Amino acid sequence: MPVDNPNRWFRHKAQGRMKQDVMDELLDIYQRMECHFGDRGWWPAESAEEVVIGSILVQSVSWKNVERAIENLRRHGLLSLASLHKAPLEVIEPHIKPTLYFRVKARKLVAFANHVHEHHRGDLAHMLHAPLAQLRAELLGIYGIGEETADDIILYAALQPSFVIDAYTKRIFHRLGYVDTEIPYRTLRDWFMEHLTPDTRLYNQYHALLDAVGSHYCSAKSPQCSSCPLQKMCDFAEQLQAPHSMSEATG
Ligand code: SF4
Repeated sequence: MPVDNPNRWFRHKAQGRMKQDVMDELLDIYQRMECHFGDRGWWPAESAEEVVIGSILVQSVSWKNVERAIENLRRHGLLSLASLHKAPLEVIEPHIKPTLYFRVKARKLVAFANHVHEHHRGDLAHMLHAPLAQLRAELLGIYGIGEETADDIILYAALQPSFVIDAYTKRIFHRLGYVDTEIPYRTLRDWFMEHLTPDTRLYNQYHALLDAVGSHYCSAKSPQCSSCPLQKMCDFAEQLQAPHSMSEATG
């Protein structure tokens, strides 16, 4: 059976370097983004329950779609785990239609609400109070909760430092010159957490800032490198400027 070599996912900026140098660079990247965008104020929610509901609804869609669904749930008294626990699926589904895959997502919301009801007497705070590793394992055991959603909930609802990876994170760190685009979620999360102090505020803002770079500048097909705060340290941007080197520009 072939043994997976985690190093194969890393590129020149993450290979054979002093750990401290990589740590300093990650903070430099952070500071450049923060100077450019400021405090992102994430997660956009009024309660931990709203974070959980939003983190399930945002799977595979943009936040704009989620805002409409959250508003629908709020208007109809369904923006809580207690109300989702009691509501039939066919009542929930029409309100979350803007988030696509609404039938599956309604089942995920109800599965989460049922889990909290059955294992924590309906008290989400009790569940979120568990140590990080224990909470993560519990979340991953709930229907519809994958690694990104689990880390969203741990970071933004439980306020514990679990670094969140998404497609923007992979694309940006691939283009900067650190990782392969196909790097597994867990490998990249572990790498960030080995090189950044476990600080909830730092992880919160880091993920939010990468989302801002991804959504404003680092699109898959036409990145706006000349406006991006990471341009000066980005392999992809450098190659775009160099003649006869467009092969990497496919990202
Ligand atoms: S400089 Fe361009 S390729 Fe690099 S992170 Fe910014 S937008 Fe993406």
